[in-house]
Amino acid sequence: MRFTFLGTGTGGTLDFFNTCFVISNNNGHFLVDTGGGCEVRKRLNNVNIDMKEIKDIFVSHSHTDHILGLIWMYKKIGILKMHDEIKGKINVYCNDVVYEAIKGISNYVLPKKLVDILEGVINYVILRDGDTYNICGVDYTFFDIQAKDTKQFGFKFMYDNKNIMFLGDETLRPELYDMVKNADFVMHEAFCLDSEKDIFHPYEKNHSTALSAAKIMEELKVKTILLYHTEDNLGDGRKDAYTKEAKTVYKGNVIVPDELEIIEL
Ligand SMILES: [Zn+2]
Repeated sequence: MRFTFLGTGTGGTLDFFNTCFVISNNNGHFLVDTGGGCEVRKRLNNVNIDMKEIKDIFVSHSHTDHILGLIWMYKKIGILKMHDEIKGKINVYCNDVVYEAIKGISNYVLPKKLVDILEGVINYVILRDGDTYNICGVDYTFFDIQAKDTKQFGFKFMYDNKNIMFLGDETLRPELYDMVKNADFVMHEAFCLDSEKDIFHPYEKNHSTALSAAKIMEELKVKTILLYHTEDNLGDGRKDAYTKEAKTVYKGNVIVPDELEIIEL
């Protein structure tokens, strides 16, 4: 099983694409978030993942940088279906707020003909807190991360006896500490370095720094943390800088994926 990071940036980055990734195994590809634009399709091409083979997509919340790439995918999926070049249904997993947003945006920005075609292709799975679905042979349990802004879901699953969690793009809420405690592998956002907090103001956006995220993960005895959804000002220097800062307070493994990097689990 592997994660392919199509993007690792925040909602405001230009040099990095917005955070979204594909979880792949022998059974298929599961796309987690879609970035904010058509770039998601280019990134899939960059990593040789055929969009037609993605049958499961999760959209964590309705912010621009997570949801709008889906609309660009829909445009292509609709056209492919029109010419019978795409087979089967595509499951889109999301909470009810995200569902309303996708439907609303689609109706406004896509041609009616494509919207009608998509009705026959897209199977929406509306998630409630605690729901479990088998995706590409793996049981994913989705949960409400109790985000301060709009309703947002994360997920957890077991792989190779490891407890793996995706916590979306807000700082982990104390209400979820018990669930995360002792986890093997946790994906948590880190907006910028702690030394840059007066430049990027992560806390006013309910985001963390590499240091503040690592501190919580150390307290919760998490074994490996993966930091993503970052600013792009450090470019290639980000991996080292974030890792170094996190390591000052965190004893486990730190992973800071580059754009288009593949992380094997
Ligand atoms: Zn975001």
